[in-house]
Amino acid sequence: GEQVIVPTAERLAGANMQHRYPGAAVDTLRDVSVEARRGEIIALVGVNGAGKTTTVNALLGLTELSGGTVSIDGQTQAELSEDVWLGYFGLLTQEFGRYEMTIREVVCLGTPRTGITDEEVWAALESARAADLVRKFPLGLDTQLGEQWGGLGVSGGQWQRLALARIYLRDPAIWVLDEPTSAIDAEAEQDIFRELARTRHNRITIVVSHRAWTLKGMDRIYVIDGGRVVQRGRYEELMAEPGRFSEIFAEQLDGGVSRRPPVDQALGVAATSR
Ligand code: ADP
Repeated sequence: GEQVIVPTAERLAGANMQHRYPGAAVDTLRDVSVEARRGEIIALVGVNGAGKTTTVNALLGLTELSGGTVSIDGQTQAELSEDVWLGYFGLLTQEFGRYEMTIREVVCLGTPRTGITDEEVWAALESARAADLVRKFPLGLDTQLGEQWGGLGVSGGQWQRLALARIYLRDPAIWVLDEPTSAIDAEAEQDIFRELARTRHNRITIVVSHRAWTLKGMDRIYVIDGGRVVQRGRYEELMAEPGRFSEIFAEQLDGGVSRRPPVDQALGVAATSR
C-alpha cells in the first residue's frame, strides 16, 4: 500500500492539568498529572464525575487547558500542529455511531493508508475478539451490513469489539480506551485485556476502566477524585493502602474474584435461562 510514516511515542505526559467548563462554578480538573511510557498500560479510575473523561480529552488536546501542559516526547501540543498531534492517538469512546458500512469499512475507518489486505483486517478482528461477528450476521468482509446494523442485531459489546479492531488495525502510537469493555461480558473482557497486555510493547496504552480485575496487570493506576489525582500505583499497592481506591474497589472483590457478576452478565444469564 501507500507509504505512510507512522509516528511512535516514548512518553505522553500531562502535567498539572487544569480545566473549567464554560459557565461551571468549579474546575473539573484541578491538578491532574499523568504519564505513560511506551510499553506501559496505565489506567484512570474514579467514580462518576471524577474527571476521567475530561482528563482523556485533555490528553488528546480536545479540551483546552487553563493550566498545565500535555506533551509527547517533550513536545507540547502547542508546538505541534493539530493534525500531527491527533495522528499519534487512537481513541475508543463510548460512542461509535451507527453507519451502513461493511465490517471491513468499519475496521479500516481512520487508517490513513490504502491497500489494507483482508488478512490484516482479520488479524485485527481476531485481536479484538470480534472475528465471530463476520460469521454471526452472517456476512463476509465485503458484504453490506445495512439494516442489520441499524436494527436490533448489534449489541453495544459487538460495537465495542469492532471499535477495538479498528484501533488494532491502525495501531497508533497512543491507544486511549475509554471503558472499552463496558458492554462486554466478564469472560470476554478478561480475554480482551489479556490480549491488550500481550500486545502492548510498542505503544502507549491508557485505559479508563470500572472493573477491578481489569486493573491487576496495569503498570500504574491513577485514582482521580474531584479533579485531582489522589492516589497512584499498582493494583496491589493501592489495595494495601487506605484511600479512595480500596473504598471504590474493595466491595467489587473477594480474594480477587468478583463477588457479584457484572450487571450485564447477570442479565444475560437471566435472559437465556429456561
Ligand atoms: P468522569 O469521566 O470521571 O465520569 P467527567 O470528566 O465526564 O467525569 O466529568 C467531570 C465533571 O465535569 C462532572 O462533574 C461533569 O458534570 C462535569 N462536566 C463534564 N462535561 C461537562 C461539560 N461539557 N460542561 C460542564 N460540565 C461538564
